[in-house]
Amino acid sequence: MALLDSALNDQQREEDLASLKREEFDLVVIGGGVTGAGIALDGASRGLKVALVEAGDLASGTSSRSSKLIHGGLRYLEQYDFKLVKEALREREMMVTSLAPYLVKPVSFLFPLTEKFRERTYVGAGLALYDLLRGFKRALPWHKHLDQKRVAKVAPSLRSDIITGGIQYFDAQVDDARHTMMIARTAKRYGARIATYTEVTELIREGRRVVGVKVKPQEGRAFAVKAKVTVLAGGVWTSLLYKKFGLKPGYEVRMSKGAHIVVPGDAISSESGLIIKTPLSVLFIIPWFGKWIVGTTDTEYKDDPNTPVASKADVDYILTQANRVLTPRLKRSDVIGVYAGLRPLISSAPDSPTTKLSREHIVDRPAPGFVSIAGGKYTTYRVMAEDAVDVASAELRRLVPDSSTAQLPLLGSDGYFALTNKVSHLAKEYGVSEDVIRHLLDRYGSEIVTLLELTRKRPELRGRLDPNLEYLKVEALYAVEYEGARTVVDIIDRRTRIGFESEDHGASIAKDIAEILAKPLRWNAAEKKSQMEAFKAHVKAERSALITS
Ligand SMILES: Cc1cc2nc3c(=O)[nH]c(=O)nc-3n(C[C@H](O)[C@H](O)[C@H](O)COP(=O)(O)OP(=O)(O)OC[C@H]3O[C@@H](n4cnc5c(N)ncnc54)[C@H](O)[C@@H]3O)c2cc1C
Repeated sequence: MALLDSALNDQQREEDLASLKREEFDLVVIGGGVTGAGIALDGASRGLKVALVEAGDLASGTSSRSSKLIHGGLRYLEQYDFKLVKEALREREMMVTSLAPYLVKPVSFLFPLTEKFRERTYVGAGLALYDLLRGFKRALPWHKHLDQKRVAKVAPSLRSDIITGGIQYFDAQVDDARHTMMIARTAKRYGARIATYTEVTELIREGRRVVGVKVKPQEGRAFAVKAKVTVLAGGVWTSLLYKKFGLKPGYEVRMSKGAHIVVPGDAISSESGLIIKTPLSVLFIIPWFGKWIVGTTDTEYKDDPNTPVASKADVDYILTQANRVLTPRLKRSDVIGVYAGLRPLISSAPDSPTTKLSREHIVDRPAPGFVSIAGGKYTTYRVMAEDAVDVASAELRRLVPDSSTAQLPLLGSDGYFALTNKVSHLAKEYGVSEDVIRHLLDRYGSEIVTLLELTRKRPELRGRLDPNLEYLKVEALYAVEYEGARTVVDIIDRRTRIGFESEDHGASIAKDIAEILAKPLRWNAAEKKSQMEAFKAHVKAERSALITS
């Protein structure tokens, strides 16, 4: 099969919806978070006929709201779960070096110590083990012990009256929403059909066997999609969907809310990210394109999974924990952005014969023709996808090749390192600054050329969307023509991260974005108006924790 166009856009969506109506699939995947997108890529790259159906935008659930770390999970060491840490570290290594090197970047963390010997020995031993577990292939440097003087140099914002030294180690970070979208685009390239803004409303059965799903596109009539296996990757929606589908779950998914705040770069003086032990867990202070993301919280959540928002109490908790070690202290008025997400926490149903409890995630097969997967973490999406497709393949009653995703770089990765050596050449050729090229390379990898070509056709879109942020207007057009964006919120919250990087959540530029999107999405004046109303309501809810009155 020749490689297909990877573009996700209005026309592709229409064609894929038509194909969903007409054809029968090997797998229909419910949910376009990182797990569902990973399953679509795993299945399509094994040669299976795959459809991916997502109720909203790609990554609109938890997969755009994480701490954005690709990590082994230091806390699992404390639980002696070495296998899990080792597996996640192997995934981290692959993502940084070959699978998505333009999106997944190394990041250093400093663990400040408040006591001279016992703590250094304990944390030092843990970090040595963390570094050892990744084996001999090492893209990231080894951890380092720092004395008090060196800590003061690396992180002047750490309180010198209580910090006695520190240990610096490396992990990796990613723009989660862009990464998930790029997995979906890569799946598209290998033949997956992708329908966003299309909800799965019920299962179709023949006797006990599930033979497909009924879907309802946002704008059209509901219809049936035939598939040999239905794979649910519904994250925190899983338990609700089991109930709706009338299936007995082999596990429960509970929700735990985690909030983050974003503060300007100059609010904290440090050359490194910071990790601080809190009474219950840890707090990360993570460098993010000249700003800091600080989080997270961990509170039980029982409300609507569609609308998790940070509360004032979440913001206060994060500030209090960060201020235990920071000077000057962070103030509420420093906070420019805020977001919250829901962790899908799994527990096995006690009497379930259908559940395979594996690592942190669970694969369940509650009925013939139906498989579900939940739990895990962002970092291990690829192994989760592989496990789910392995179980689904058993239902196909034919020989299915093993997963090849460990050797399958995401779209934009091929040629990325070569292009980083051609920054000045590209800048001259397209008449933009080298900084602009670097910004674009770290977002689009080798796909940068298609985007730069758009600036030739539409030179008026070369300027910035927001004067204080690096995003260009042409990126909004590219997002709608190639990345499946369909609303103003998709652009502001997920294709770019203006939603939490800008003090007004993008309110001052939302109208300009609506103008850029209007033509390719065929919006009339009424639709533009309703987009703006939807955006305003979204901002009001997301930022409610920051409203002072
Ligand atoms: C605060 C926080 C911080 C985190 N930090 C990290 C981290 O730093 N590193 C890490 O590795 N992991 C982290 N995680 C965990 C990680 O983000 C999640 O494990 C992962 O994103 C879950 O992805 P998912 O695809 O399973 O779920 P989701 O991304 O939620 O995807 C499920 C999708 O299903 C769709 N859906 C639901 N119902 C339907 C329907 N009826 N029809 C069609 N589609 C439907 C939803 O719209 C949604 O997009 C964090 C999680 C949280 C909450």
